[in-house]
Amino acid sequence: MADEKVVFTIGHTGGRGCGTIMGDKNLKAIAVRGTGGVSVKDPVKFLQAYRRIKKLLDLKDTIDVFTPSWSFMSANVLLQLFNEQGWLQAYNAQRGRMESFLTGEEYISKYVTRPETGFCCPFPACGRRFEVKEGKYSGISGDEREVGFAMSGANVGVNSWPAVLKFRVLCNRAGLDEFHVMFAISWAMECFERGIINKEDTGGIDLKFGNEDAFIKMTEKIISRDGFGDTLARGSEEAAQIIGKGSEKYLLTIKGREIEGMPQRSCYQIALALSVCENGPDHTRWYPPYPPNPKALPKDIPIPFDPFKAFQGRNIEDKGRLVKWLYDTRAVLESLPTCVFVIRNTLGVDMKPWLELYNACTGANCTLDEFIKIGERIVNLERAYVVREGFRRKDDTVPRRMLEEPILENYCPPIGKNLDLMLDDYYTLRGWDVKSAIPREEKLKELGLDFVWDDLKKMRGSS
Ligand code: SF4
Repeated sequence: MADEKVVFTIGHTGGRGCGTIMGDKNLKAIAVRGTGGVSVKDPVKFLQAYRRIKKLLDLKDTIDVFTPSWSFMSANVLLQLFNEQGWLQAYNAQRGRMESFLTGEEYISKYVTRPETGFCCPFPACGRRFEVKEGKYSGISGDEREVGFAMSGANVGVNSWPAVLKFRVLCNRAGLDEFHVMFAISWAMECFERGIINKEDTGGIDLKFGNEDAFIKMTEKIISRDGFGDTLARGSEEAAQIIGKGSEKYLLTIKGREIEGMPQRSCYQIALALSVCENGPDHTRWYPPYPPNPKALPKDIPIPFDPFKAFQGRNIEDKGRLVKWLYDTRAVLESLPTCVFVIRNTLGVDMKPWLELYNACTGANCTLDEFIKIGERIVNLERAYVVREGFRRKDDTVPRRMLEEPILENYCPPIGKNLDLMLDDYYTLRGWDVKSAIPREEKLKELGLDFVWDDLKKMRGSS
């Protein structure tokens, strides 16, 4: 495992750096053996609530376009959609499209061997097993549940399923997060093409966009921390500090971590959500960034934003309200726990089925407001944690490229000052200080987090 080599860009299980910590502590694995069972307060109500949720994910009943498409084509359905919309982060996000790009149809017809789902998961097959049967990568096989690995093709300018599948297998076996690796390599490719680094730096590798062999070779070097791979294994921010020469201009990182394959310049809800994420760019905290068909939403679902405005890509209206609500609700849902892929259909906007499940399981008898407040408390606690670690408003941002550079072929302007306007809105709604992004005393006390305020106060006093 790359964990043992403490590669910064670690984390097949979600890129959260658990592998790095384990590697640092010389911890190989944690084995847990359970005895006994988990009791449920009201099994009959719990089963009824679960069945209601399962029905909403049923392919016959769903009103969410992504449920069936995800199920048939996996997350790779997004490839065509992203390319058509100009939402790809192609060539290190210099462009939004590739003339010729990987398609989900080719993936399904040539490489997928069977669909796959998680044990006991109500979602109808979100993953696939794949195999490459010919060519230089013949014999490689693996599985996937995430589109990140396929987007790597556009990111490094490679239009080849076998190469992308090889990349997936390499990262998966080493415990690496594909997003981190692909953005580190695409950043290095841009630096190479701009003459900031050369073949002497890369150990003779011609690290140009579109060079499939260089892409795979550099991935292997990162895993083994060999030569220039050792520099990239520190994460692209640290690599930029080592290289200097203005290379930091081309970084695609937020709070020290490589971004995700989500369009920020075209969808401001994504830009805001990625920028304020406490643990660096992480889609699971606010996913999905699109609604089910707003016209199909039942009228009695209480949501505190206007879905038409809030989900409109380049419109700053209602973005703060939307992102706050997404964060609070996902924080409590992920604590149940559930999975972001399951939060679909009306389950993405209607919290009542989840509340029923929670109450039946625990007997807590929470109201809907109390349920969402649990999420708000989690977000505030996490924010206080990162404040203690020194993060402030200046760290809630997106890469320079997204703020300053347009996507020319898509007529998409940079985000510019709009991010600041959305941040002002977001912090105000959260009850945080707008200048520093530190939670205010009243807010923490309202959430029963007095002890957190006491800690923050001490910290302020000592600084
Ligand atoms: S829990 Fe999530 S990732 Fe796992 S199989 Fe279900 S939908 Fe897919």
